[in-house]
Amino acid sequence: MSAAHPEPLRASASRAHEGAEAPDPLSGLAPALFMGLGSDGVYARTALYERVLERLAALIDRLRDVRAEVLRFPPVMNRRQLERSGYLKSFPNLLGCVSVLHGSEAAIRAAADRCETGGDWTASLGAADLVLTPAACYPLYPLVAGRGPLPPGGLIFDVAADCFRREPSRMLDRLQSFRMREFVRFGSPEDIVAFREGWIARARELAAELALPYAVDIANDPFFGRVGQLMAVSQLQQSLKFELLIPYHARARPTACMSFNYHREHFGQVWGIKGSGAEPAHTGCVAFGIDRLAVALFANHGLDPDQWPASARRTLAL
Ligand code: ATP
Ligand code: ZN
Ligand code: MG
Repeated sequence: MSAAHPEPLRASASRAHEGAEAPDPLSGLAPALFMGLGSDGVYARTALYERVLERLAALIDRLRDVRAEVLRFPPVMNRRQLERSGYLKSFPNLLGCVSVLHGSEAAIRAAADRCETGGDWTASLGAADLVLTPAACYPLYPLVAGRGPLPPGGLIFDVAADCFRREPSRMLDRLQSFRMREFVRFGSPEDIVAFREGWIARARELAAELALPYAVDIANDPFFGRVGQLMAVSQLQQSLKFELLIPYHARARPTACMSFNYHREHFGQVWGIKGSGAEPAHTGCVAFGIDRLAVALFANHGLDPDQWPASARRTLAL
């Protein structure tokens, strides 16, 4: 744990009226699942935790549409592509950019040596052509655009990435480095709406099979700044985002463990992805926050998967 934060990791935020002093009912959870690595929200994961995460990933494999093409993305992506997607308009505060020492051997040596002498070597860093992938679907849109117009019926993908968001926290449900799995649909507005409705219904069943308390609710993103507040209102008015919310304990504010997003023609327009006609393709994605889902299982059912409810064990093939 970082020296600046000697207090223990918290399992989740409690509802505000409960007061900050209420003891965390899940304080025993963190040490069995995560080990600190010096920065909040960046953890080593234990074998117990990874076993459940792998069972969740295998469950999602089984739920995949047979037509889906599977792609796995690295934790970094092309900076220009993310700029073009509009991310800096929406979440500039969350983005991590790869920066490196560059120039002659002498310049790099001089900068690196300042580390030894207590100086600030980081002042010499310059941005590379890479950013840390903030969501698993961003690298997909330019890739699909390069394939020409969509085939009749559109396309569907299964993607995943290690994602980064600069939102350091002591809460187990808000990591800086976390894994995201997504199904992404390209097609007509009707295709996307049907895809999303189907997945919202499937997610409800899934939460019930995993014996987790849940709710599905309309949501908005915390877009950056004053203009961002207007973007959030518009997102709500157009019902573009829904979330599967799971409380980690009875007094907890529920955690968004999945999101169901309709981007309308945004990515189709930005990347010039055409539907079967001349109009831009519509897109939507269903995101599984698999780290949040894994913590939700431990938080609700305890640290021993052998003791979990039978339907959860059966669903996860544990
Ligand atoms: P929140 O409102 O809680 O910040 P979000 O709306 O930013 O979530 P999305 O952008 O929809 O989340 O990302 C898809 C999923 O990824 C979320 O539903 C969640 O399960 C997971 N996720 C998002 N941010 C984090 C994080 N900081 N740590 C762990 N999982 C996350
Ligand atoms: Zn997405
Ligand atoms: Mg967020």
